[in-house]
Parts: sequence; structure tokens; C-alpha cells
Amino acid sequence: MTDAWPHLLDHPSLVAGNDSVPDAVQLPVVQVDDVTKSYPGEPPVQALRGVNLAIRQGELVGIVGPSGSGKTTLLQLMGTLDRPTGGRVRITGLDVATMADDDVAYLRATRIGFVFQQFFLAEHSTVIDNVAVGLLYAGVPIGQRRQRAVEALDRVGLGNRATARPTQLSGGQRQRVAIARALVGRPAMVLADEPTGNLDQATGQSILALIEQLHQGGSTIVVITHDHTIAERMIRKVEILDGQIVADSGAAGTDPRRPWARLAQPRTRVALTASDVRLGEEPS
Ligand code: ADP
Ligand code: MG
Repeated sequence: MTDAWPHLLDHPSLVAGNDSVPDAVQLPVVQVDDVTKSYPGEPPVQALRGVNLAIRQGELVGIVGPSGSGKTTLLQLMGTLDRPTGGRVRITGLDVATMADDDVAYLRATRIGFVFQQFFLAEHSTVIDNVAVGLLYAGVPIGQRRQRAVEALDRVGLGNRATARPTQLSGGQRQRVAIARALVGRPAMVLADEPTGNLDQATGQSILALIEQLHQGGSTIVVITHDHTIAERMIRKVEILDGQIVADSGAAGTDPRRPWARLAQPRTRVALTASDVRLGEEPS
């Protein structure tokens, strides 16, 4: 299956997801430049109005804003599920707009994991098959998929429920299965849209603790939420309002050789007053 994309696999930009590559040559996992998105209608809805955001490997980012502010639209563009009206989206350095649909699909399958509020599990499949399906489009041989799925289930604390069906699990356990499915392909980043939105308070807290644990294990994770208390738990907090980023605490603490930067880095708020302000880039 991977034979269809040899040029993509050889692309040097794909090193951004590779732990062995020195930081200096690592491109952002996702870079969004001057992105706009309008949905057709009378009048059209301007869901995003010039968004700039770069997220680097190892970051834990919360994107927070009220309902209708453009969070899900931004996640869909960062996840290559949709294309922007204007501006540019790059995943591990690759400009999505220049790529054929098949290449974008392969990029998504191998580089991006998704977690949704509604879990989206196949109720009649076992837990292990729900996770292994995350490898279906990544060209992983069938014999390896189940082994990888078991490993991913272990990471979310559900290694002992591999043969259960989602209907036999609690909401929190279902979301853990969905997180394992997002992780199984070892993506460059995980995008989570309101991952605790369907869970009670205590269960939501345990999912957030899992997300923090996965981040400490090296995963790059973006959590989208309307809840400021959730966003505050993330290392970096980005605020979105009416389709624009209005504050960004910055990419502090992302350099593994300088972990103290997480504590020392001041959390500056950046007001979006000038059109040339570039939010999300590392402070100079
Ligand atoms: P959020 O996730 O922050 O609630 P969304 O990104 O879902 O915000 O929506 C941003 C704006 O775009 C809202 O005004 C919403 O109604 C509109 N919108 C979202 N998706 C569509 C769509 N498919 N068609 C038309 N309007 C949409
Ligand atoms: Mg939303």
C-alpha cells in the first residue's frame, strides 16, 4: 500500500515526526499561516479570519474559545479534514494545498490522530479491532496491527479489555479506546476536540491526566475545549474568539534539552491588533 507514496515517504520534511532528528532541523508538526475559512450561506459564515499558529513536536496545547468561535473548523484544517478558503496549512512541513487527495489521506493516516467528544467507536467490533483500524490506511501489515493495538491499549490502561465490546465499557473507558486508536499509528500529533465533553467531571479529570501522561511520554497533543479550566492545565494555551486567535501563551517548554523553560518562560499574552503579528511562533 505504501508503494503508492514513495515520493512522500522520501520527503525530508517527514523527519519532523522523528525523535532521532536534532531539534534545529525540526519543522513544526503543524503550521497554519494566514488561514481563513468561510462556509457558504447567505451571507457566508466567516469561521476563521486570518489564523497563524505553529505547533512543535512535544507540545501540549489547549485551544480554548466559546461555542461558535471556530475551534472545530481550526481542528479540521489542522487535521487536513478540510481545506482552507485562504492561507496555508503545512503538516510536518508539507503544504497540504499542493498535495493530491490521496497523498493528503496518507499524510493524515500516518501523521495525525483524532479524538472526538462522541468517541466514534464501532459498537459491534471488539476494543482491539477498534484500535487496530487506526492502522488500516497507514499500510501496516495485518499481522502487526493487533500487536500494535495491544501496545496502544496498554498505554491507556486498557490492555486487559482488548476483547470487550464498547457497549461493555464506561464512557471514560470508551474515550480511552478512542485515544488508543489515535495513538496506534504513532502520529506526529493528536488532535482532540472536546475530549471530555461527554464525560462526567471525575471521568473527564482522569482523561486529562491520561493526556498529560501521554504528553510526558513524548506525544504532541492539541486539546480543543470551551472550558478554560481544561485549557489552563495544558502547557500552552491559545485563545480563539470570532475566528481569530486573541491570546497565545507561547510555545514554552518544548525543548527537551531545556525542560526548565516550561517554568521560566513568561506566559505573555499577545493581542491581535496588527495584521503582521505572528502568533504561535517561538519567542525570539
Ligand atoms: P466551535 O467549534 O468553536 O463551536 P465551529 O468551528 O464549529 O466553532 O463553527 C464556527 C462558525 O462556523 C459557527 O458560526 C458555525 O455555525 C459555522 N459553521 C461551522 N461549520 C459549518 C458548516 N459546515 N456550514 C456552515 N457554517 C458552519
Ligand atoms: Mg466545536
